[in-house]
This record gives sequence, C-alpha cells and structure tokens, in this order.
Amino acid sequence: MTHYTKSACIRGKVLLLLALRYDLNPMIPNLELMAKAIQLSHESMNSLSGGPFAAIIVKDGEVISEGTNSVTAWNDPTAHAEIVAIRRACTKLQTFQLTGCDIYSTCEPCPMCLGAIYWARPKALYFAAERTDAAQAGFDDRFIYEQLTLPVHERTLPTMQTMREEAARVLKEWISKPDKREY
Ligand code: ZN
Repeated sequence: MTHYTKSACIRGKVLLLLALRYDLNPMIPNLELMAKAIQLSHESMNSLSGGPFAAIIVKDGEVISEGTNSVTAWNDPTAHAEIVAIRRACTKLQTFQLTGCDIYSTCEPCPMCLGAIYWARPKALYFAAERTDAAQAGFDDRFIYEQLTLPVHERTLPTMQTMREEAARVLKEWISKPDKREY
C-alpha cells in the first residue's frame, strides 16, 4: 500500500465514522414542535400562571409531556417549564431518566434546568430564545452561572460545611450496599 493510498484510506474511515455518527445522532429540530412550545409559552404568559416559558418532551415522534413556567401559580421557585415537563415525562414513562427523548425549550435553560436536563439524560436539547433574550426581559440567570464557578466561600449565598465525616460515612455505606438501585 502506498503512502498516499494509506492516508486516503484513513481519511475515508474517519469520514465514514463521522457520517455514521451524524446519521446516528442527527440534530434536526422539529420546527412544528418548537412553534407549539412557543405558542404554549405565549398562552401561559397570558393566563398569568407564570413566566413566558414552555417546554415539550418528545420521544420517537410522540409528545410525552408539556410544561409551562408555573412558579407564581404554584408558589414553587423550581417550577420552571423544563422541570415541570421533565417531572411529567418521568411520571408518564415510569422512569427516572429520559433516554431517547428530545427536550424542546422556548429558552436556553437556566443553571437549575440545565442541571436537571443533564440528570434526566435525554437524547438532545433544542432551545429557541437565548439567555441574553431572557435577560432583557428581566430573567437574568447570568448571576447564577457566575456564582457556580466561584469557590464556596466567595459566593453571595452564605455557605458553611459541617459534619463531613458523619455524612461521608453514609456515602461509604452506599458504595457497598448490595441492594441499591443505581441511577
Ligand atoms: Zn430554569
């Protein structure tokens, strides 16, 4: 095999792997679904149940759940659209992780929702408006994103660690617990 043939062969293999990768994990947004989510966010805003945000979770083309921001209606600061949709989807699918699901959010998720989305392990996330658009409307989560990168003692939330050993003992027990349900 000549040097040229060898490198062409390697390049071909790389391209094939890339093609397979993209065929297996295509990021193709369903614009109808996103438009529906945006419509939901508009309706939610006008019903005065919370902020102008909505999320839809879909699996294999089927809508599993919808969520709209319900913070003020439920007196629940965690009732962001994505969290509401994740809870409903997990209840419906009787699972604690959203394998194979796509999440459509009308806005780039805040740190809480992004964390929840990572824990839920969906296939993909699609979002419409950007964090900067939300910030202009008074929903500025940049502060939280910045806080997360700071050492604990530099955060504005007074935070103190205590009884580490006692709590860590429980964690050690978990490691060797034979009947645990891992997640
Ligand atoms: Zn959120």
